[in-house]
Amino acid sequence: MPDGLPPRQTLRSAAALRAAGLIPPEAEPAAARIATRYAIALTPTIAALIDPADPADPIARQYLPDPAELATAPWETADPTADAPFTPTKGVVHRYPDRALLKPLLTCPVYCRFCFRRESVGQATGHLTDAELDTALDWFAAHPQIREAILTGGDPLILSPRRLAHILARLSALPHLDIIRIHSRVPVADPTRITDALTAALDTPKPLYLCIHANHAREFTPPETATALRRLAHTATLLGQSVLLRGVNDSTEALEALFRAMLRHRVKPYYLHQLDPAPGTARFLVPVDEGRAILRALRGRVSGLAWPVYVQETPDGGGKRPLGPAWE
Ligand SMILES: *Cc1c(COP(=O)(O)O)cnc(C)c1O
Ligand code: SF4
Repeated sequence: MPDGLPPRQTLRSAAALRAAGLIPPEAEPAAARIATRYAIALTPTIAALIDPADPADPIARQYLPDPAELATAPWETADPTADAPFTPTKGVVHRYPDRALLKPLLTCPVYCRFCFRRESVGQATGHLTDAELDTALDWFAAHPQIREAILTGGDPLILSPRRLAHILARLSALPHLDIIRIHSRVPVADPTRITDALTAALDTPKPLYLCIHANHAREFTPPETATALRRLAHTATLLGQSVLLRGVNDSTEALEALFRAMLRHRVKPYYLHQLDPAPGTARFLVPVDEGRAILRALRGRVSGLAWPVYVQETPDGGGKRPLGPAWE
């Protein structure tokens, strides 16, 4: 941060970014235009990680709006993972026989510029009402073939501990559920939300897997993040998921540093995602062949524990497909 003083509040507008010294005054009008289409949010933790003097800062690139967002490439689509046709009731996505997603809200602690749900996250209409949440939980109760409920969104760890505890209690009471999984960016993006009340809410009778989204080793450096992950490790098995992103982690060295940082903080790398073609994200695209080459160079350099599965979502809704690399 420029003046050595990190902001105390989440930055949510072009004016706030300019006032914090994260964008120059001449970039403010374009950023304001983008904000009307795609929400902006940088928490104090994330803002403090950015070096504004570095035009290629890998943290800034993930979160600061860019005029390129308003141009849609021919191959990009609003629902790249094809969730809509697999939504039996609002807030539920059921694509695989044994597991389904529950999206209680579409709010996030930060808004990633490459988000695959960018056309839906950050909108006021995303919260399930109490009645809608009830209906969604009833759907899980009525489908005994579902063995795993996956809370995602938006970010489920934004929910109040009370609401989260209520959802987890309802799910835990279902005899056919083996495990509960939560996907979240909160532990790295807004670690001070991991309070005692929140970790108490996460203490469920069913095994809890917490899959943490992080893309750069620097995201693990704040002391409050280390504390949050250490606390969470007492109640959940921690997994990591990352997106392969041009200018953020598109080198063997950057991925090695990222996966090593995850392991140091009790997080087992689970998936490395090929970028989903959401509108206005082309500047982040790393071709699959290049991704495979980066990973191939990593094999043997790092512990097998550091190795994620490189996957791509198929555009027809067929689900995740492992991309290799293959080893002949
Ligand atoms: C990604 C995803 C899952 C989880 O898949 P895993 O391979 O088990 O991590 C479940 N349901 C939907 C709809 C998904 O997109
Ligand atoms: S935290 Fe996840 S859902 Fe939210 S904006 Fe980032 S990628 Fe999208």
